[in-house]
Amino acid sequence: MSATKTAAPIKGVMTNGKSSNERTSVEPLGQRGIFDIVSERDHEQVVFCSDKASGLRAIIAIHNTTLGPALGGARMWTYASDLDALNDVLRLSRGMTYKAAAAGLNLGGGKAVIIGDPRIQKTEQLFRAFGRFIEGLSGRYITAEDVGTGVNDMVHIFHETKYVTGIPFELGGSGDPSPVTAYGSFCGIKACANVRYGSDSLEGKRVVIQGAGHVASGLAKYLTEAGAKVFITDIYAEKAQQVAKDSGATVFAPEDVFEMDCDIFAPAALGGVINDATIGKLKCDIVAGPANNQLGDEDKHSKELAIRGIMYAPDYVINAGGLINVASELEGYSQPRALKQAENIYNTLKKILLRSQELGITTNEAANHVVEERLAAIASTKRIYASQSHFSGRFGESWKRKD
Ligand code: NAD
Repeated sequence: MSATKTAAPIKGVMTNGKSSNERTSVEPLGQRGIFDIVSERDHEQVVFCSDKASGLRAIIAIHNTTLGPALGGARMWTYASDLDALNDVLRLSRGMTYKAAAAGLNLGGGKAVIIGDPRIQKTEQLFRAFGRFIEGLSGRYITAEDVGTGVNDMVHIFHETKYVTGIPFELGGSGDPSPVTAYGSFCGIKACANVRYGSDSLEGKRVVIQGAGHVASGLAKYLTEAGAKVFITDIYAEKAQQVAKDSGATVFAPEDVFEMDCDIFAPAALGGVINDATIGKLKCDIVAGPANNQLGDEDKHSKELAIRGIMYAPDYVINAGGLINVASELEGYSQPRALKQAENIYNTLKKILLRSQELGITTNEAANHVVEERLAAIASTKRIYASQSHFSGRFGESWKRKD
């Protein structure tokens, strides 16, 4: 694993039989030890997986299992240091707790990172070794695809454990999550319209979509069918043209995205699009789209949007359709059921938007309130003894996969 050969080790973590403290290039951690880092964001468990034979170096972080087993993708990335990998997995796994809870799922938050270059370091052996570590957690963590991993890697993992989602249809998997994400985002946009304009109707509303990829193509169709005037762009003009052809949207140049006068701006490309340079240019009432991590700085930019009178649909709430889709595999995949569940994004988002208005807080803060309330309420019910947990049943007799 060349990416980490020279990387700074984490204080106190044993690598190659030596305490990392014996190495010379120690990352500056100040007085913080490994438990300080892990407990900062209330994580339950962090598992370091090391297998010399396959070259596997992975970290699984389980943030919170109040609602159920921790589900979250495995990201493969060339981290500059082990500490960067740890910080990333801790941040991402906490985000999954909030996403699952807001989506109304009985799942906790977890994530894994595999340290390495996905272009050259992927092998069957590596993913099967990773699968065995997951199996060792007996269902506390369920993995899925993420940046740098794909369906073939999930199949290797599936040879070693059933605690994996995102496998192909023929193995009981859920396939491409984009249609469900697109539908959930559409329902979320209607919730925003309801709170902002007093009606779910999108008739005549001008919606600008940035990105013409998998999710955007479905979203554009829902919007045009609902009577919205949709404008779409992509850095690859032919992708935007194809979506326009299929949906009746109008194409515009990617560099004009912040010059477009519209009612609703739907980011559906990369993260960080709302930042210091762009926020002042926005000419819309609502920002609501499926892209992950839309705000350059969550706290600062959600406040600035509120000050500018722009309603913001927290991304982890509106784009939860993808998670709902893979979670549906756990009960035997059904796209109609996943779509039905994604429809509830409307109610959740509306509750969040109204809470934000009532309390005069940002929609991000309101979303966190709603999530934390649910976590506290369900944690409280767990005081009541029950002989068998709901989810252990799912992974026992009633497990529906053909494994
Ligand atoms: P995708 O890769 O299919 O589409 C993204 C598109 O954005 C690409 O066509 C790309 O060319 C375009 N793009 C990139 N930079 C751009 C720019 N500056 N201007 C215009 N276009 C640009 O990805 P996707 O699966 O459709 O996902 C879109 C977003 O939604 C991502 O942020 C993703 O993380 C998020 N998301 C997707 C899902 C899902 O189910 N696929 C679930 C949750 C969140």
